[in-house]
Amino acid sequence: MVVKSRPSTRRRPALRATRRFRLLRTGVLALALVVLISVMINVIKGSPAEVRTAALAIPALPSATPTPTPTPTPSAEPSSASPSASQRPSYDAGGLDPELEKAFEAAQKKAKADGVTVSIRTGYRSAKRQQDLFESEISRTGSRKAALKRVLPAKSSMHVRGGAIDVKPQAGATWLEKHGNEWGLCRRYENEWWHFELMTEPGGDCPTMEPQPRE
Ligand SMILES: [Zn+2]
Repeated sequence: MVVKSRPSTRRRPALRATRRFRLLRTGVLALALVVLISVMINVIKGSPAEVRTAALAIPALPSATPTPTPTPTPSAEPSSASPSASQRPSYDAGGLDPELEKAFEAAQKKAKADGVTVSIRTGYRSAKRQQDLFESEISRTGSRKAALKRVLPAKSSMHVRGGAIDVKPQAGATWLEKHGNEWGLCRRYENEWWHFELMTEPGGDCPTMEPQPRE
């Protein structure tokens, strides 16, 4: 009797451990399944067709571990819209005014035919970049008033609005000052030979130059 009971007492903890392990494994598998299903439901709910097929392919995977699935963003456009989005020029994201860009390109072509090189040194500037330029000009000149002669703060700069270009070299700027009005391009300031904006109708007269930038 005593001999018989021994093995059973010895076996019991092992049995308990096996049971506990099975329970744990079942729990983990169930949890994984629930997560997987809820992810699939989310994916299927609001998604274009190709995402749906991708979601349906998930059950075929041998692994039960729910990998972090790419959750579709609610704003995701249908795939047919993405090619045109990639073709969009950069000014859509806050860049140079397309009219200004077109005018300059036409002028540049004509300048080249005349044997003159002219190119854009800077066009659009982000508000932050413009503000940084303004702050460093204040440091350089020692005062806000002095800085304003050359650089405007972000809120009043045409560069931030995509409506101004600074060109190079000076010979090219001189050419553009003489001929730019053909495309509506005018030099704006007396103290900035490089700064041009669309300021007249194509072929019209440019307004009188301003002495310097003003806030
Ligand atoms: Zn400028």
